[in-house]
Amino acid sequence: MKPFIEEILRNNLKKLEDEHLLITLKILSSSQGPWVEMGGRRVLNLSSNNYLGFNSHPSLIKASIEATEKWGVGSGAVRTIVGTQEIHMELEHELASFKKVGACLVFQSGYATNLGVIQALMTEGDVIISDELNHASIIDGARLSKAKIHVYRHVDMNHLEEKLKEARDLKPGKILLVTDGVFSMDGDIAPLPQITELAERYEAILMVDDAHASGVLGRNGRGTVDHFNLHGRVDIQVGTLSKALGTMGGYVASSQTFVTFLIQKGRPILFSTSHPPGVVAATLVSLKIINSLEGEELIKKLWENTGYFKDNLKNAGFNIGVSQTPITPIMVGDAEVAQKYSSLLLEDGVLALGIGYPTVALGKARIRTIVTSSHTKKDLDLALKTLCKIGRKIGII
Ligand code: PMP
Repeated sequence: MKPFIEEILRNNLKKLEDEHLLITLKILSSSQGPWVEMGGRRVLNLSSNNYLGFNSHPSLIKASIEATEKWGVGSGAVRTIVGTQEIHMELEHELASFKKVGACLVFQSGYATNLGVIQALMTEGDVIISDELNHASIIDGARLSKAKIHVYRHVDMNHLEEKLKEARDLKPGKILLVTDGVFSMDGDIAPLPQITELAERYEAILMVDDAHASGVLGRNGRGTVDHFNLHGRVDIQVGTLSKALGTMGGYVASSQTFVTFLIQKGRPILFSTSHPPGVVAATLVSLKIINSLEGEELIKKLWENTGYFKDNLKNAGFNIGVSQTPITPIMVGDAEVAQKYSSLLLEDGVLALGIGYPTVALGKARIRTIVTSSHTKKDLDLALKTLCKIGRKIGII
């Protein structure tokens, strides 16, 4: 790198360090799970999205190995050239029946899905209306699309209606109303029944990103649309395979026409190689499990653990914001305090990362925790004891 660029970058990093916002990678020496190995010791993990413990489920691993032997390590091309194997089609078929929609299309990640869908659908002369706490991939997709972007205050339905009226007055080609189903940093659930009514009244296309709701909310983890019984009324659902489903990738669930349209216009589909078959096969097994009694038990356990953990945090005097799901933030405010809290927790064997700007707004730093179905009651008690001990030491409770 040229020296003058190195200097610019170093100054940038120094500023982040001074603001306690410098991100350093946490390196695991083990597979993902309720306990992981880091720096030569086992630590209790409260930071993964491995809701149902699928990241290292033996049946998924077995399926992945068998599919790799049968179909190869890589798919060898983008979907629209020769990167579509029968197994890719089977996954999309299973996802469509899981989500109870006409068709699904799988992308390389949830991030790529939001980018690809919004950019393909929306264009100049259109308006996108977006909750202020929507995921970065929605924001980036909207920015790539060249449509006008109107942001409404978080879950504020009056403000949303104002924005819809403003949009309608512009007489746009299309209006897209987009929201996270479960908000990834606060863990609250979007008021989808009201949002759906408003979308219908103002003839907006409704899109819900259910990355943190799939496998968590609704019957067998079908997501917020199922949770609120809104089947047939949400035009586009986005999900990820990388959280509760335990593997990697994203998908859009909608109509066959929209899927066919995305095959023509979705840039990650046209220009980036499709999934390795092993990942596809493992995901097919996670869907099978989620639809079975084992899946129901795992989701039940996830919610029992969540309730136990949240109740105890609240009783101990922590501010856990507005969370309604397994994503439980411990609100701290100051990035320096969040960073210190997280590193003291790690010294005591608990991995719970501090999250600061730009992932959350300035001054809203927090420790973000997610308990999973794989945590035992003993794990949760240990986590709570450590969170309280260090929390008291640094004056959070
Ligand atoms: N949407 C939301 C709401 C998310 O939380 C995430 C993951 N952080 C994504 C999309 C992106 O998913 P993936 O990790 O599969 O790219």
